[in-house]
Amino acid sequence: MQKFTSIASSLKKEKPLFSVEFFPPKDDAGGKRMLETAKAISPYQPDFVSITYGAGGGTRETTMRYASALQNDYGFEVMPHLTCVGHTVDELLEILEDFAKAGFRNVMALRGDPPKGEKVFQAVAGGLSYGSDLVALIKENFPDFVIGVGGYPEKHPEAIDASTDLINLKTKIEAGADFITTQLFFDNQVYFDFVKSCHDIGITTPVLPGLLPVLSLGQAQRFCSMCKATLPLLLEKELENADESNQSAVGSKWTAEQILGLIGEGAPGYHIYALNKPQSTLKILESLGIEKAVV
Ligand SMILES: Cc1cc2nc3c(=O)[nH]c(=O)nc-3n(C[C@H](O)[C@H](O)[C@H](O)COP(=O)(O)OP(=O)(O)OC[C@H]3O[C@@H](n4cnc5c(N)ncnc54)[C@H](O)[C@@H]3O)c2cc1C
Repeated sequence: MQKFTSIASSLKKEKPLFSVEFFPPKDDAGGKRMLETAKAISPYQPDFVSITYGAGGGTRETTMRYASALQNDYGFEVMPHLTCVGHTVDELLEILEDFAKAGFRNVMALRGDPPKGEKVFQAVAGGLSYGSDLVALIKENFPDFVIGVGGYPEKHPEAIDASTDLINLKTKIEAGADFITTQLFFDNQVYFDFVKSCHDIGITTPVLPGLLPVLSLGQAQRFCSMCKATLPLLLEKELENADESNQSAVGSKWTAEQILGLIGEGAPGYHIYALNKPQSTLKILESLGIEKAVV
Protein backbone atom coordinates (compact mmCIF):
# COMPACT_ATOMS: atom_id res chain seq x y z
CA MET A 1 0.00 0.00 0.00
CA GLN A 2 1.16 3.46 -0.85
CA LYS A 3 1.88 5.71 2.11
CA PHE A 4 -0.31 8.82 1.99
CA THR A 5 1.39 12.16 1.50
CA SER A 6 -0.83 15.20 1.32
CA ILE A 7 -1.14 16.88 -2.07
CA ALA A 8 -0.09 20.17 -0.49
CA SER A 9 3.23 18.67 0.64
CA SER A 10 3.73 16.76 -2.65
CA LEU A 11 3.45 20.09 -4.43
CA LYS A 12 6.24 21.49 -2.28
CA LYS A 13 8.63 18.62 -2.97
CA GLU A 14 11.51 19.04 -5.39
CA LYS A 15 10.45 15.96 -7.32
CA PRO A 16 7.70 16.85 -9.83
CA LEU A 17 4.26 15.72 -8.72
CA PHE A 18 2.47 13.28 -10.97
CA SER A 19 -1.27 12.63 -10.84
CA VAL A 20 -3.89 10.84 -12.88
CA GLU A 21 -7.55 11.65 -13.46
CA PHE A 22 -10.36 9.13 -13.77
CA PHE A 23 -14.05 9.63 -14.41
CA PRO A 24 -16.98 7.81 -12.78
CA PRO A 25 -17.86 4.85 -15.03
CA LYS A 26 -21.35 4.49 -16.45
CA ASP A 27 -21.78 0.79 -15.61
CA ASP A 28 -20.06 -2.16 -13.94
CA ALA A 29 -18.15 -3.10 -17.10
CA GLY A 30 -16.79 0.45 -17.29
CA GLY A 31 -16.01 0.27 -13.57
CA LYS A 32 -14.00 -2.90 -14.09
CA ARG A 33 -12.02 -1.23 -16.87
CA MET A 34 -11.41 1.82 -14.74
CA LEU A 35 -10.14 -0.24 -11.81
CA GLU A 36 -7.92 -2.31 -14.11
CA THR A 37 -6.42 0.96 -15.30
CA ALA A 38 -5.90 2.04 -11.69
CA LYS A 39 -4.20 -1.29 -10.96
CA ALA A 40 -1.88 -0.94 -13.97
CA ILE A 41 -0.89 2.59 -12.96
CA SER A 42 -0.54 1.94 -9.21
CA PRO A 43 3.07 0.56 -9.30
CA TYR A 44 4.17 3.97 -10.59
CA GLN A 45 2.79 5.52 -7.39
CA PRO A 46 1.15 8.73 -8.56
CA ASP A 47 1.16 11.41 -5.87
CA PHE A 48 -2.62 11.48 -6.13
CA VAL A 49 -5.46 10.42 -8.36
CA SER A 50 -8.64 12.36 -8.93
CA ILE A 51 -12.08 11.28 -9.97
CA THR A 52 -14.47 13.67 -11.63
CA TYR A 53 -18.02 14.52 -10.63
CA GLY A 54 -20.23 13.78 -13.62
CA ALA A 55 -21.57 16.54 -15.80
CA GLY A 56 -25.07 17.44 -14.70
CA GLY A 57 -24.16 16.63 -11.10
CA GLY A 58 -25.62 13.12 -11.27
CA THR A 59 -22.72 10.95 -10.12
CA ARG A 60 -22.79 11.47 -6.38
CA GLU A 61 -22.89 7.73 -5.57
CA THR A 62 -20.60 6.59 -8.38
CA THR A 63 -17.94 9.20 -7.69
CA MET A 64 -18.04 8.24 -4.01
CA ARG A 65 -17.97 4.48 -4.66
CA TYR A 66 -15.05 4.58 -7.06
CA ALA A 67 -13.15 7.22 -5.11
CA SER A 68 -13.38 4.85 -2.12
CA ALA A 69 -12.17 1.91 -4.21
CA LEU A 70 -9.21 3.94 -5.48
CA GLN A 71 -8.32 4.84 -1.91
CA ASN A 72 -9.07 1.62 -0.07
CA ASP A 73 -8.23 -1.05 -2.64
CA TYR A 74 -5.31 0.62 -4.42
CA GLY A 75 -3.89 2.86 -1.71
CA PHE A 76 -4.03 6.09 -3.70
CA GLU A 77 -4.24 9.55 -2.22
CA VAL A 78 -7.58 10.51 -3.77
CA MET A 79 -9.08 13.83 -4.70
CA PRO A 80 -12.78 13.51 -5.53
CA HIS A 81 -14.24 16.34 -7.58
CA LEU A 82 -17.43 18.13 -6.59
CA THR A 83 -19.56 20.54 -8.61
CA CYS A 84 -22.33 22.94 -7.63
CA VAL A 85 -24.63 21.64 -10.39
CA GLY A 86 -28.10 20.78 -9.10
CA HIS A 87 -27.10 20.86 -5.41
CA THR A 88 -28.25 23.07 -2.57
CA VAL A 89 -25.71 24.18 0.01
CA ASP A 90 -27.13 21.61 2.44
CA GLU A 91 -26.59 18.82 -0.08
CA LEU A 92 -23.07 20.01 -0.83
CA LEU A 93 -22.31 19.96 2.90
CA GLU A 94 -23.72 16.42 3.17
CA ILE A 95 -21.53 15.25 0.29
CA LEU A 96 -18.48 16.91 1.82
CA GLU A 97 -19.30 15.24 5.15
CA ASP A 98 -19.45 11.90 3.31
CA PHE A 99 -16.07 12.65 1.74
CA ALA A 100 -14.59 13.41 5.15
CA LYS A 101 -16.12 10.28 6.72
CA ALA A 102 -14.72 8.16 3.89
CA GLY A 103 -11.27 9.48 4.72
CA PHE A 104 -10.69 11.87 1.83
CA ARG A 105 -8.66 14.93 2.62
CA ASN A 106 -8.74 16.66 -0.76
CA VAL A 107 -11.44 18.01 -3.01
CA MET A 108 -11.44 19.62 -6.46
CA ALA A 109 -14.05 22.37 -6.16
CA LEU A 110 -15.87 23.31 -9.34
CA ARG A 111 -18.92 25.19 -10.44
CA GLY A 112 -19.62 22.66 -13.21
CA ASP A 113 -21.13 23.19 -16.64
CA PRO A 114 -24.78 24.03 -17.28
CA PRO A 115 -26.85 20.82 -17.48
CA LYS A 116 -27.51 19.41 -20.99
CA GLY A 117 -29.86 21.59 -23.02
CA GLU A 118 -29.10 24.71 -20.95
CA LYS A 119 -26.72 27.38 -22.21
CA VAL A 120 -26.21 29.44 -19.08
CA PHE A 121 -25.30 28.12 -15.65
CA GLN A 122 -27.97 28.81 -13.08
CA ALA A 123 -27.64 27.91 -9.47
CA VAL A 124 -30.57 25.94 -8.02
CA ALA A 125 -32.53 27.68 -5.24
CA GLY A 126 -30.31 27.51 -2.18
CA GLY A 127 -27.32 26.52 -4.32
CA LEU A 128 -24.06 28.18 -5.35
CA SER A 129 -23.19 30.19 -8.46
CA TYR A 130 -19.40 30.02 -8.74
CA GLY A 131 -16.47 27.79 -8.03
CA SER A 132 -15.26 30.41 -5.55
CA ASP A 133 -18.49 30.02 -3.53
CA LEU A 134 -17.83 26.29 -3.20
CA VAL A 135 -14.22 26.90 -2.19
CA ALA A 136 -15.42 29.31 0.53
CA LEU A 137 -18.01 26.78 1.74
CA ILE A 138 -15.38 24.04 1.99
CA LYS A 139 -12.85 26.30 3.68
CA GLU A 140 -15.39 27.38 6.29
CA ASN A 141 -16.73 23.92 7.11
CA PHE A 142 -13.81 21.61 6.32
CA PRO A 143 -10.75 23.78 6.90
CA ASP A 144 -8.37 20.81 6.75
CA PHE A 145 -9.26 19.80 3.20
CA VAL A 146 -6.71 20.51 0.49
CA ILE A 147 -8.69 22.33 -2.20
CA GLY A 148 -7.93 22.28 -5.92
CA VAL A 149 -9.63 24.50 -8.50
CA GLY A 150 -9.76 24.59 -12.29
CA GLY A 151 -7.78 27.16 -14.29
CA TYR A 152 -8.08 27.95 -17.98
CA PRO A 153 -4.86 28.85 -19.81
CA GLU A 154 -6.87 29.68 -22.94
CA LYS A 155 -9.66 31.37 -20.93
CA HIS A 156 -12.86 29.78 -19.69
CA PRO A 157 -15.22 29.64 -22.68
CA GLU A 158 -17.85 31.78 -20.92
CA ALA A 159 -15.48 34.49 -19.71
CA ILE A 160 -15.67 37.88 -21.41
CA ASP A 161 -11.89 38.11 -21.63
CA ALA A 162 -8.75 36.54 -20.21
CA SER A 163 -8.07 39.23 -17.63
CA THR A 164 -11.61 39.02 -16.18
CA ASP A 165 -11.22 35.25 -16.03
CA LEU A 166 -7.93 35.65 -14.15
CA ILE A 167 -9.53 38.00 -11.63
CA ASN A 168 -12.22 35.37 -11.08
CA LEU A 169 -9.53 32.73 -10.65
CA LYS A 170 -7.86 34.92 -8.05
CA THR A 171 -11.18 35.05 -6.16
CA LYS A 172 -11.07 31.25 -5.90
CA ILE A 173 -7.54 31.39 -4.51
CA GLU A 174 -8.47 34.12 -2.03
CA ALA A 175 -11.44 32.01 -0.94
CA GLY A 176 -8.95 29.34 0.13
CA ALA A 177 -7.89 27.16 -2.81
CA ASP A 178 -4.49 25.51 -2.44
CA PHE A 179 -3.66 24.81 -6.05
CA ILE A 180 -4.89 25.09 -9.61
CA THR A 181 -5.15 22.27 -12.13
CA THR A 182 -5.36 23.54 -15.69
CA GLN A 183 -7.70 22.66 -18.47
CA LEU A 184 -5.95 20.65 -21.17
CA PHE A 185 -3.59 22.46 -23.53
CA PHE A 186 -1.20 21.20 -26.20
CA ASP A 187 1.25 24.06 -26.50
CA ASN A 188 3.47 24.60 -23.46
CA GLN A 189 3.86 28.30 -24.25
CA VAL A 190 0.15 28.67 -23.47
CA TYR A 191 0.85 27.32 -19.97
CA PHE A 192 3.95 29.46 -19.41
CA ASP A 193 2.05 32.61 -20.46
CA PHE A 194 -0.83 31.67 -18.16
CA VAL A 195 1.46 31.10 -15.17
CA LYS A 196 3.12 34.45 -15.83
CA SER A 197 -0.27 36.18 -15.98
CA CYS A 198 -1.22 34.47 -12.71
CA HIS A 199 1.98 35.73 -11.06
CA ASP A 200 1.42 39.21 -12.48
CA ILE A 201 -1.90 39.50 -10.67
CA GLY A 202 -0.59 37.97 -7.47
CA ILE A 203 -1.63 34.32 -7.75
CA THR A 204 1.24 32.36 -6.24
CA THR A 205 -0.39 28.95 -5.67
CA PRO A 206 1.03 26.06 -7.72
CA VAL A 207 -0.44 25.64 -11.21
CA LEU A 208 -0.50 21.95 -12.10
CA PRO A 209 -0.63 21.41 -15.88
CA GLY A 210 -3.49 19.13 -16.99
CA LEU A 211 -2.52 17.09 -20.05
CA LEU A 212 -4.55 14.90 -22.37
CA PRO A 213 -2.72 12.21 -24.32
CA VAL A 214 -5.01 12.20 -27.33
CA LEU A 215 -6.09 8.88 -28.78
CA SER A 216 -7.11 10.05 -32.25
CA LEU A 217 -7.44 13.11 -34.45
CA GLY A 218 -11.22 13.04 -34.08
CA GLN A 219 -10.97 12.98 -30.29
CA ALA A 220 -8.42 15.81 -30.28
CA GLN A 221 -10.72 17.95 -32.45
CA ARG A 222 -13.77 17.15 -30.29
CA PHE A 223 -12.04 18.02 -27.01
CA CYS A 224 -10.52 21.20 -28.41
CA SER A 225 -13.87 22.32 -29.68
CA MET A 226 -15.53 21.56 -26.32
CA CYS A 227 -12.91 23.36 -24.21
CA LYS A 228 -11.98 25.98 -26.79
CA ALA A 229 -8.38 24.82 -26.58
CA THR A 230 -6.00 25.24 -29.51
CA LEU A 231 -4.90 22.17 -31.45
CA PRO A 232 -1.42 23.03 -32.74
CA LEU A 233 -1.03 22.60 -36.50
CA LEU A 234 1.97 20.33 -36.03
CA LEU A 235 0.05 17.92 -33.77
CA GLU A 236 -2.91 17.99 -36.14
CA LYS A 237 -0.61 17.14 -39.08
CA GLU A 238 1.16 14.36 -37.16
CA LEU A 239 -2.20 12.83 -36.26
CA GLU A 240 -3.45 13.17 -39.84
CA ASN A 241 -0.34 11.48 -41.18
CA ALA A 242 -0.55 8.54 -38.79
CA ASP A 243 -2.61 5.40 -39.37
CA GLU A 244 -5.63 5.28 -37.12
CA SER A 245 -3.98 2.54 -35.08
CA ASN A 246 -0.93 4.76 -34.52
CA GLN A 247 -2.64 8.01 -33.57
CA SER A 248 -2.60 7.23 -29.84
CA ALA A 249 1.18 6.70 -30.05
CA VAL A 250 1.45 10.19 -31.59
CA GLY A 251 -0.70 11.53 -28.74
CA SER A 252 1.35 9.94 -25.95
CA LYS A 253 4.65 11.01 -27.53
CA TRP A 254 3.34 14.59 -27.71
CA THR A 255 2.29 14.52 -24.04
CA ALA A 256 5.62 13.01 -22.93
CA GLU A 257 7.47 15.79 -24.76
CA GLN A 258 5.15 18.38 -23.23
CA ILE A 259 5.94 17.01 -19.77
CA LEU A 260 9.70 17.17 -20.32
CA GLY A 261 9.40 20.78 -21.49
CA LEU A 262 7.12 21.74 -18.61
CA ILE A 263 9.23 20.16 -15.91
CA GLY A 264 12.37 21.58 -17.49
CA GLU A 265 10.89 25.07 -17.08
CA GLY A 266 9.84 24.53 -13.47
CA ALA A 267 6.22 23.32 -13.60
CA PRO A 268 5.36 21.68 -10.25
CA GLY A 269 4.34 18.40 -11.91
CA TYR A 270 1.82 17.03 -14.37
CA HIS A 271 -1.74 15.75 -14.20
CA ILE A 272 -2.72 13.21 -16.85
CA TYR A 273 -6.31 13.01 -18.08
CA ALA A 274 -6.16 9.22 -18.50
CA LEU A 275 -9.85 8.81 -19.39
CA ASN A 276 -9.92 5.44 -17.59
CA LYS A 277 -7.57 3.87 -20.16
CA PRO A 278 -4.09 2.68 -19.19
CA GLN A 279 -2.06 2.41 -22.42
CA SER A 280 -1.14 6.04 -23.12
CA THR A 281 -0.40 6.87 -19.49
CA LEU A 282 1.82 3.80 -19.11
CA LYS A 283 3.64 4.61 -22.33
CA ILE A 284 4.26 8.17 -21.13
CA LEU A 285 5.53 7.07 -17.72
CA GLU A 286 7.84 4.50 -19.29
CA SER A 287 9.20 6.99 -21.80
CA LEU A 288 9.87 9.45 -18.95
CA GLY A 289 11.81 6.74 -17.13
CA ILE A 290 9.47 6.69 -14.14
CA GLU A 291 10.26 3.49 -12.29
CA LYS A 292 7.76 1.09 -10.79
CA ALA A 293 7.93 0.84 -7.02
CA VAL A 294 9.26 -2.40 -5.63
CA VAL A 295 6.61 -3.80 -3.28
C1 LIG B 1 -9.10 20.57 -13.70
C2 LIG B 1 -10.56 20.58 -14.07
C3 LIG B 1 -11.39 19.58 -13.57
C4 LIG B 1 -12.75 19.55 -13.92
N1 LIG B 1 -13.54 18.57 -13.39
C5 LIG B 1 -14.87 18.58 -13.64
C6 LIG B 1 -15.74 17.62 -13.03
O1 LIG B 1 -15.32 16.77 -12.25
N2 LIG B 1 -17.06 17.68 -13.34
C7 LIG B 1 -17.58 18.63 -14.17
O2 LIG B 1 -18.81 18.61 -14.40
N3 LIG B 1 -16.78 19.55 -14.75
C8 LIG B 1 -15.46 19.56 -14.50
N4 LIG B 1 -14.64 20.52 -15.07
C9 LIG B 1 -15.24 21.50 -15.98
C10 LIG B 1 -15.81 22.71 -15.21
O3 LIG B 1 -16.87 22.30 -14.39
C11 LIG B 1 -16.28 23.73 -16.22
O4 LIG B 1 -15.19 24.27 -16.91
C12 LIG B 1 -17.18 24.83 -15.67
O5 LIG B 1 -17.79 25.50 -16.76
C13 LIG B 1 -16.46 25.87 -14.82
O6 LIG B 1 -16.16 25.43 -13.56
P1 LIG B 1 -15.23 26.34 -12.60
O7 LIG B 1 -15.25 25.78 -11.26
O8 LIG B 1 -13.92 26.56 -13.25
O9 LIG B 1 -16.10 27.68 -12.63
P2 LIG B 1 -15.89 29.14 -12.08
O10 LIG B 1 -14.57 29.35 -11.49
O11 LIG B 1 -17.09 29.46 -11.24
O12 LIG B 1 -15.95 29.99 -13.42
C14 LIG B 1 -17.01 29.80 -14.35
C15 LIG B 1 -17.16 31.07 -15.19
O13 LIG B 1 -17.69 32.13 -14.37
C16 LIG B 1 -16.79 33.21 -14.32
N5 LIG B 1 -16.82 33.69 -12.92
C17 LIG B 1 -16.26 33.10 -11.84
N6 LIG B 1 -16.52 33.82 -10.73
C18 LIG B 1 -17.27 34.89 -11.13
C19 LIG B 1 -17.87 35.99 -10.45
N7 LIG B 1 -17.75 36.14 -9.13
N8 LIG B 1 -18.60 36.88 -11.19
C20 LIG B 1 -18.73 36.74 -12.53
N9 LIG B 1 -18.18 35.71 -13.22
C21 LIG B 1 -17.47 34.81 -12.52
C22 LIG B 1 -15.44 32.66 -14.74
O14 LIG B 1 -14.62 33.67 -15.33
C23 LIG B 1 -15.85 31.59 -15.74
O15 LIG B 1 -16.10 32.16 -17.00
C24 LIG B 1 -13.29 20.56 -14.77
C25 LIG B 1 -12.44 21.56 -15.28
C26 LIG B 1 -11.09 21.58 -14.93
C27 LIG B 1 -10.20 22.66 -15.48
